[in-house]
Amino acid sequence: MKFTYETACECGGKIVFSATGEEKFGLGECLSCKKTTYLIDPLSVSVTAERLLYRSKAELENGDYSLSIVIATIAVESYLTRLFLKLKGMENYATTFELPNESLEAQWEKEYPRSGGFLKPSDFVAKQFTGLTFDQFVMSNNIVTAHAFLGLPNPNKILPSRYFQNELFNRRNRIAHWGYVNSTRQEAEHSHQIAVAIITILREMDRLKYSVS
Ligand SMILES: [Zn+2]
Repeated sequence: MKFTYETACECGGKIVFSATGEEKFGLGECLSCKKTTYLIDPLSVSVTAERLLYRSKAELENGDYSLSIVIATIAVESYLTRLFLKLKGMENYATTFELPNESLEAQWEKEYPRSGGFLKPSDFVAKQFTGLTFDQFVMSNNIVTAHAFLGLPNPNKILPSRYFQNELFNRRNRIAHWGYVNSTRQEAEHSHQIAVAIITILREMDRLKYSVS
């Protein structure tokens, strides 16, 4: 998959970077003053997930709302599985001092709950990282996670995991499984906002478990 990323140049022009898959972004050139510069990927458990988030935002701005929703959901799924594989890799490293190879990761993937949309995988990962369910973790007086969730429109006060299932995963399923392609800009904006909130929560899970400070 191709990814593009835009930033503002100091001259006020637009700098466009592009990359395919997980490869590094090439040199970007300002469309106005032609100055070139490098883009540094954010340090992340999943570079792919971060790039998918950008791509979902780009499709939203292009007006391809259904595609934006599908990609936002894949970003979340990708982040969840990478977190799980990171945990397995760290546990493995602690006993063997070896980094995992692909066949070991393929074996671990069998432990990961493939079904269950958002509900099962998010609880599975949350329990392994924090000992809490996903909802308990989000609402556990953690300012970052509570802020990410409470910033979303939720008039019926639905719990986080159910809310993310209903508002993002079910919306994606309607597109992917039922061929619904008439998503609105509002739905796509909401979905993108949800994907960013979930990834903020997952980043926090990772930070609390592995940060050295
Ligand atoms: Zn410039």
